[in-house]
Amino acid sequence: MIYEINLRFVKAFLLEVRGKLILVDSGTKGNGNRILNAVTSLGKDSRRIEAVIYTHSHGDHIGSAGELKIPRNLIHENGLRYLTNGIGRKPVLHSTALKIGFALMSPFFNARLSPVFGAETLKEGEVFPGIQVIYTPGHTDDSITLYMEDEEALLVGDMLQGTKKGLRLPSIYEDFELLRKSVEKVKQFRVKKVYVSHGISGPPRWPF
Ligand SMILES: [Zn+2]
Repeated sequence: MIYEINLRFVKAFLLEVRGKLILVDSGTKGNGNRILNAVTSLGKDSRRIEAVIYTHSHGDHIGSAGELKIPRNLIHENGLRYLTNGIGRKPVLHSTALKIGFALMSPFFNARLSPVFGAETLKEGEVFPGIQVIYTPGHTDDSITLYMEDEEALLVGDMLQGTKKGLRLPSIYEDFELLRKSVEKVKQFRVKKVYVSHGISGPPRWPF
């Protein structure tokens, strides 16, 4: 099962795959208890959560990492230092409108976070039974996608955003060519649903 946990403008996810409880992402700073309470509301014992997997190191995905106090934390090696230093990666913005928007939201993105020590790095391949990591750089150089075989689903983080009409490319990215290549890579997986961190999760209606 994949459960979406709605935080302000971003989501975290609880995965229950082959008997294990795994969290994906942690929202912005200050959402630790909210996430754990959401897990309890789903009828699950939050003490059973074995690990948190981060899709990438932007502040709205690792913000509450240190508050959760989950035994294992996993991120791509290019994102490790953001968890250890307790600071979110700076988003690369391409328009004036975005720059103004982010300046207004700077308290969320520049906040000092509780650091996470001893995090482990994610490699491409199976990370837990039934959960496969696909390296999908472009939005950031530490972005990963999760493929869940049993659910026939992909969890793409910010590589794509979800709208009523389908999936679209994000307006924030570090390398547009890599982003497009990463989308091509995950399109090879036959799935029924694509989970996104921002917007509406739904069937795989790819942007190209
Ligand atoms: Zn992001």
